[in-house]
Amino acid sequence: MTGDGGTSERPLRAAVVGSGPAGFYAAAALLASEEPRVEVDMIERLPTPWGLVRLGVAPDHPNLKSVSRAYERIATQPGFRFLGNVQVGGVLKHADLVELYDAVVYAFGAETDRRLGIPGEDLPGSWAATELVAWYNAHPDFQHLSFDLSGERAVVIGNGNVALDVARMLSLTRDELTPTDATDVSIDAILGSGIREIVVLGRRGPVQASWTAPELQEMGELAGADIIVDPAELELDPASEAELAEAGPIVRRNMELLREFAAREPTGKPRRVRLRFRASPVAILGEGRVEAVEVVRNELVPDERGGLRAVPTEDREVIPCSLVFRSIGYRGIGMPEVPFDEERGTIPNREGRVVDDGEPVPGVYCAGWIKRGPTGVIGTNKKDATETVNLLLEDARAGRLPNTSAPPESVLALLQDRGVQVVAYGGWEAIDALEKGRGEPHGRPRIKLCSWDELLAAARE
Ligand code: NAP
Repeated sequence: MTGDGGTSERPLRAAVVGSGPAGFYAAAALLASEEPRVEVDMIERLPTPWGLVRLGVAPDHPNLKSVSRAYERIATQPGFRFLGNVQVGGVLKHADLVELYDAVVYAFGAETDRRLGIPGEDLPGSWAATELVAWYNAHPDFQHLSFDLSGERAVVIGNGNVALDVARMLSLTRDELTPTDATDVSIDAILGSGIREIVVLGRRGPVQASWTAPELQEMGELAGADIIVDPAELELDPASEAELAEAGPIVRRNMELLREFAAREPTGKPRRVRLRFRASPVAILGEGRVEAVEVVRNELVPDERGGLRAVPTEDREVIPCSLVFRSIGYRGIGMPEVPFDEERGTIPNREGRVVDDGEPVPGVYCAGWIKRGPTGVIGTNKKDATETVNLLLEDARAGRLPNTSAPPESVLALLQDRGVQVVAYGGWEAIDALEKGRGEPHGRPRIKLCSWDELLAAARE
């Protein structure tokens, strides 16, 4: 059924582009529909599904990764197909999808990172946090990177959960790292690293930090690193005091934790994680590689949206370091032929209906970070994707979707013509079984395959 308002027997055929949380929740909502019935092809650039659950969530957070079991259940439902190793915007175009499917849901996330835009940002030793994250998580596009961890101090810029992930991962001990699915190369590099101090710099104050309380609490429970907070950093200006008085439980708990950290004496663990506030980098300094970060102290002033923004003072300082990780947010990249808002890094949409010049584009939808921007936790994507799919189904019932006449085999025939080795769900299951089998004798959840060649070979088995 589609443009005929549900009179024929054929299920609606939808493509979901991207296989992270938003893609899976969109697929689940589509497959749950009875009128119309829906078949879903999930199209993924990599040979592996789960997006940031596999390649972003920190390896020492297996509980967060266990959400993948829900995605496995979705994938076994009738009407679901996985088409891995297929790049939309590359070998398959948006125009192809429009011909092959009644509806397309873009859920490919935010693929790159935001930049600081300061001098020295491209010096060797200055990285996006997302590069380190992809590297230790075995993303096959990031294994050629080589992080020189021999210096004594690393600076992480940003006060979100990714900044805490990076600071924590760099300070884990052998006992904390070996039961994880981080790559062996990254485990060896972290254990052998010379890093003694990791400074996490927030441009605003402790009340405005965007990390969540359980993640902050963990920073005080590291076996190999003391958490250091200077009590003076927690003195609040009146506006921040007022913000704290009005704040929800997460921010209040964060402040409690920070005050508890500030009251601690360092216990002489091999590494230190130092949390600092109201400091922005203005330049990354060094001859041929990172040697220091120049930072300016900020004060907080009210902004036009009722919040507080950081404004630089005259007070500057240089922090010697050999590594800088900017962790100031992800950023979406546009899809050729699909509208894109360059400023926000998202596809312009109304509750998930893609719009072009303010008008809905029939049959084209989006969900997750490419819809709303890179915010929220994994579960946020469930509500977000369900909202999108409800509108898609509403459009289907109202006969507002363009009809495709292509049968389900067409996409496979097209991909074969174009020489693509499609990794079907069974191919991913072969990768999964191999990785788990490699990990099992070592008490690890899996030892991941790290290269495209290994992944594609395992999928062919
Ligand atoms: P985020 O939470 O948006 O944090 C970005 C941080 O960068 C903020 O502290 C922001 O400060 C700062 N920032 C932005 N521009 C800056 C600049 N030019 N200079 C200095 N600082 C700057 O982003 P994220 O850490 O990338 O995380 C993305 C999402 O994934 C979040 O929703 C996060 O909670 C989620 N996540 C969750 C977990 C978990 O649950 N364990 C783990 C990882 C990620 P301002 O506030 O001043 O803008």
